[in-house]
Amino acid sequence: MSKTKQRPPDNRTLLVLGAGASIGAAKYPIESSWRQAIANMPSGENFFHDMFFQGKTHTHANRYLNVLGLTSEGVNDLIVRAWAMKNNMEHFDPDEWRQINIEEVFTFLDIGEGMYPQGTQYQRAFRICRRELQEFVTSFLAMKSDGLHCEHLMDIIFRLQPTDSIVSFNWDTIADFTLQRVDCASYGGYLDLMMAEPLQVSDFVHRGVLLKLHGSLNWIICPNSQCRLHGKIRLAAEGRTLLRFMTMHACPACGNNRGRPFTVPPTSQKLIRRGSILHKLWLLAREQLQYCRRIVFIGYSFPTTDFYSEWLFRQIYFMEGSLRRLLSSTQPSRRLRAQLQSVTRVCSEAARSTGSRHWRVSARRDSDS
Ligand SMILES: [Zn+2]
Repeated sequence: MSKTKQRPPDNRTLLVLGAGASIGAAKYPIESSWRQAIANMPSGENFFHDMFFQGKTHTHANRYLNVLGLTSEGVNDLIVRAWAMKNNMEHFDPDEWRQINIEEVFTFLDIGEGMYPQGTQYQRAFRICRRELQEFVTSFLAMKSDGLHCEHLMDIIFRLQPTDSIVSFNWDTIADFTLQRVDCASYGGYLDLMMAEPLQVSDFVHRGVLLKLHGSLNWIICPNSQCRLHGKIRLAAEGRTLLRFMTMHACPACGNNRGRPFTVPPTSQKLIRRGSILHKLWLLAREQLQYCRRIVFIGYSFPTTDFYSEWLFRQIYFMEGSLRRLLSSTQPSRRLRAQLQSVTRVCSEAARSTGSRHWRVSARRDSDS
């Protein structure tokens, strides 16, 4: 592990990936028409409707399949009831699932769980539903993105400097596999960071890394209480190679293959425990911000309830850094522009279009100063 002691020049770039970066990703390799048909990534606001969509193959046209009802009937029925989806009481009607926001559902389950004492039937039912929903989401995101990299992101990463970092708020592994494919400095930084024991923030401040601030579906926790890895977050990798979905859950220490992904549920009550690895990653992101000359937002929409990221980007006010510029991959809406101005004082600047609304910034080849 190399450490750089002296203060590096303040010309670093921080790439910030939101849900739109995965939605608009150009995903490769194309392994089968079935995988391609299910490869669309969901948005937070229209989560279930997007999850249920399957593109056409040579055997069927575009269609919607209630994969939640098929795999987690209890969660499906609870949402149908609580959101008063009358048509879905009898049969599956994808239209009623439009605009059901994943964050609202998780928050609903969280509040339900907290309302009654531990051990009561009500509390247990909500806890089980929350866990099942989390399993459903991580498994299906994994099926959609497993082993795939994004050509747009690759194009940008090729132009990054070794000390530039990437912040991702996505659970999927598209950024991970893209970095692995490029095999750039921030990929090595990511592997070292996730395997550091214990993780010292100061070791990584001047290195390019990938910071997945809401966890990741390939960060696995061993459920075996007798195992030395129990309770620890393990990036599913063998040496420098990321493991794929079929092999990622087995614990290398005890062999238990029921490992659970570590992800932060998208609720308005996110809790990041002090001293945890996630807490250190947030602190590291904060430390790195002061050395950034530019922040490039790709498909990130400043969700109003993500108070942690708001805290992070407001840190710019407390730094004497050299931040000159913010770039946004999309033409910011009025709300986003106001939020960007409010959070950072600088208006975002949209780059010209490449055809994909989430990836306009990828066409930018000039070196901005
Ligand atoms: Zn284990």
